Amino acid sequence: MKRLLILGGTGDAATLTREANELPDLKIIYSLAGRTRKPNLPDCEVRLGGFGGVEGLVTYLNEAEIDMVVDATHPFAATMAAHVAEACTETNIARLKYCRPAWKQGDVSWTSVPDYASAAEQLQDMGSRIFLSIGTKDLEVFAELADKWFLIRTVEEPSKPIPLDNHELLLERGPFNKGHEQTLLVMTQIDVLVSKNSGGKMATKLSAAHSLGIPIIMIEQPPSPAGDVVDSVEDVLKWVRKLK
Ligand code: NAP
Repeated sequence: MKRLLILGGTGDAATLTREANELPDLKIIYSLAGRTRKPNLPDCEVRLGGFGGVEGLVTYLNEAEIDMVVDATHPFAATMAAHVAEACTETNIARLKYCRPAWKQGDVSWTSVPDYASAAEQLQDMGSRIFLSIGTKDLEVFAELADKWFLIRTVEEPSKPIPLDNHELLLERGPFNKGHEQTLLVMTQIDVLVSKNSGGKMATKLSAAHSLGIPIIMIEQPPSPAGDVVDSVEDVLKWVRKLK
């Protein structure tokens, strides 16, 4: 029986894993970084925690006798994506990157920036109340904007202090409807929304901000490592069926 490692950590990855788990003659191991207290767990073998860099991952792939890997981590989990690309090349194990399609401008428009530092630079000349909707991991570059106030939203209490002087932390689990997002933006008097282009179904915070005339700064996805990338569960399953 072939052994498939799926690197997860998103709702889409869990859905993909549940569907792949229906395929016959396939053993699936679902891997999570272990950051979330109540993760969304598919009904298959689950492993938690980092591998210990590329070297640790190579050891794991060999010891667990993995035949193929689907990297279904979040599009912004660039370190893990780079590590697994390198480890699979070294071990000659087939790898596929699953990445939901990035959001595109249409009814809702925004200013695209390539990274967090560029977003911080853009904010210098914009309003003073910022909804920094990017999680809690990459906030350091915004600390230099001492005259701004930030709204930070996250599902769980962050594991380390928020490195911003003026902020409010909101603990809330989505999905959120547009009305909820509009109310939040109005009540907190937000001038600018900063978002990561996480892709998939367009987030209601974007249409809510647009409807209120609030400018959006969008941090675009970092490039994926070289290799095949698909953007649908069907294409992942097709690839797995071919190899198993
Ligand atoms: P990252 O910066 O790319 O990875 C940092 C380290 O975390 C990796 O080097 C690896 O440790 C470990 N790691 C990450 N994903 C892992 C996985 N699926 N299984 C085992 N170890 C993993 O990742 P991140 O941005 O911190 O994201 C961590 C997890 O949260 C990812 O699984 C991702 O899918 C999920 N997530 C991320 C975001 C986001 O915006 N970044 C949003 C939603 C969900 P070692 O080097 O020790 O192997």
